[in-house]
Amino acid sequence: MEKFEIAIIGEGPAGLSAAIYAARAGRKVMVLERAVAGGQQALTEKIENYPGTGRGGMGGVELGQKMEEQAKEFGVTFLNDMVKSVGFSPRKNIIKTSFSGDIEAQSVIIATGRDAKNLGVKGEEQFRGRGVSYCATCDGAFFRNKTIAVIGGGNSALEEAMYLSRFVKKIYLIHRRGEFRAEKIIQDAMCKNEKIECYMGYCPLEIIGEKSVHNLIISNVETSQKIDLEVEGVFIYVGQNPNSQIFKDKLVIDSAGYIVTDEQMKTSLKGVFAAGDIRNKSLYQVVTAVSDGAIAAVEADKYISAEE
Ligand code: NAP
Repeated sequence: MEKFEIAIIGEGPAGLSAAIYAARAGRKVMVLERAVAGGQQALTEKIENYPGTGRGGMGGVELGQKMEEQAKEFGVTFLNDMVKSVGFSPRKNIIKTSFSGDIEAQSVIIATGRDAKNLGVKGEEQFRGRGVSYCATCDGAFFRNKTIAVIGGGNSALEEAMYLSRFVKKIYLIHRRGEFRAEKIIQDAMCKNEKIECYMGYCPLEIIGEKSVHNLIISNVETSQKIDLEVEGVFIYVGQNPNSQIFKDKLVIDSAGYIVTDEQMKTSLKGVFAAGDIRNKSLYQVVTAVSDGAIAAVEADKYISAEE
């Protein structure tokens, strides 16, 4: 079994920041990731609100890669694998992986982030990958000169609709309320985009197609009036689900599935910390994730020193 002082689960900005801080503190650090560097930021085409990325922004993939390179330069070990289960006990935490055996660590930092929520309407599962998408950066180019719908009224829906407008002919933006949840600056930019037509106060009812999507039925939330929109793609941005399932029954988790921590990123178990979008907090951004990661690493380092 490989032994590390600090094991970090998740390679988004929180996990990578924690890795850099922990390695610079002289700790033997391992980062486990099921997919690619950068977590959800890797699904974002441009990040321009993280200081240093500049007004023109930086690609989410590029920013994730730079963070990973920096962590490697400080000697962090990376492993691509799925975590099957975790066993927490003081100074001896065991992480079981799908293919690489077990990893032992004195302290664990959980930075597993969140995944896109499903909408839960008829046709969503059937046409997933055949017109239904949750990632504009991944799939936008397949919809060149087509008409599509984007669902949601938060920052993600509006930003991704603007990104998709580069490729597509037209976008119907469907939001269930009369007001957007997105920040004002993002709303203002979206409103100037002539390719986007908003349906406010409408909910998607059904996605219809044969081999792929060709219609979306929406319904007015007050009158139940139905509209049949001809679309070839439906991009869904209705929020996020925290990836906390494997920690259920081991740590205190709130009713929405977020790990409860204090301001030092301490969870309900000594030596186990949580950072980034997996924890309950008020602002889910790259800048707050890297801050959480740094705090978690410093606290994990202090925990190990105190136990020695
Ligand atoms: P979000 O802010 O939770 O917005 C989800 C949207 O989906 C809301 O407008 C919600 O409507 C709608 N919705 C939820 N369930 C629905 C359903 N069943 N049917 C129809 N509509 C539904 O999620 P997000 O946009 O993914 O953003 C998540 C977090 O990341 C936020 O904190 C956001 O600020 C942050 N973020 C920031 C940036 C940035 O700063 N550039 C970019 C992306 C995301 P209601 O409004 O009616 O609830």
